[in-house]
Amino acid sequence: MSTIAENIAKLGERIREAAQASQRDFTQVGLLAVSKTKPSTAIRQAHAAGLRDFGENYLQEALGKQAELTDLPLIWHFIGPIQSNKTKAIAEHFDWVHSVDRLKIAQRLSEQRPAHLPPLNICLQVNVSGEASKSGCSPQELPALAAAVAQLPRLHLRGLMAIPEPTDDVDAQHQAFATVRTLQASLDLPTLDTLSMGMSHDLEAAIAEGATWVRIGTALFGARKAGEPENGQSAP
Ligand SMILES: *Cc1c(COP(=O)(O)O)cnc(C)c1O
Repeated sequence: MSTIAENIAKLGERIREAAQASQRDFTQVGLLAVSKTKPSTAIRQAHAAGLRDFGENYLQEALGKQAELTDLPLIWHFIGPIQSNKTKAIAEHFDWVHSVDRLKIAQRLSEQRPAHLPPLNICLQVNVSGEASKSGCSPQELPALAAAVAQLPRLHLRGLMAIPEPTDDVDAQHQAFATVRTLQASLDLPTLDTLSMGMSHDLEAAIAEGATWVRIGTALFGARKAGEPENGQSAP
């Protein structure tokens, strides 16, 4: 077995155990493989080991890999910060966008989604760590943003995404993810079915609080090289 296949098997165990511990059905928790900075050969191995959903943060890098993988039936998720000049290519080349945090970007994605494709699946990124993170709308902005995005014809609003401040404090992890769950429940949009939250170090807490996508890079593909930007933010 390749290291990637072994890692996927271990992650499957972690996901199953975490789901079981909170009386959830593990099939309700999707494993989104975060392949940023990793080559298309790694994606091929992960696909051969059973994965189908891949998350990318950088548009140009993602388009390059997509072009090398057209023979595989992959589902592509954009999870990085979005500049307005990138929305057209994102609307054309992805199935999901997890990182929408303002209406202007959502409007552009809806206008630019090609007619022959199904509506683009959208998660709104919410910032539950205050000053610690610059990406994501505030909890105060969320209700109006969600109501407006839900009206856009070529988007399918699915739920929320969050990247809480990393911490080893398990109670703090739970608290942050529970905040996301509560925010979603407080929206007057009963059809939302997706919570994109939890990464390599905190997927157990995220699953306990209702995650339906865990976004996993390091625990699947190994560490990214030092100096590479994280979360799509520019390196200092
Ligand atoms: C890099 C990244 C991940 C994966 O993080 P790991 O800690 O490597 O599992 C998940 N979500 C987003 C938005 C990311 O940028």
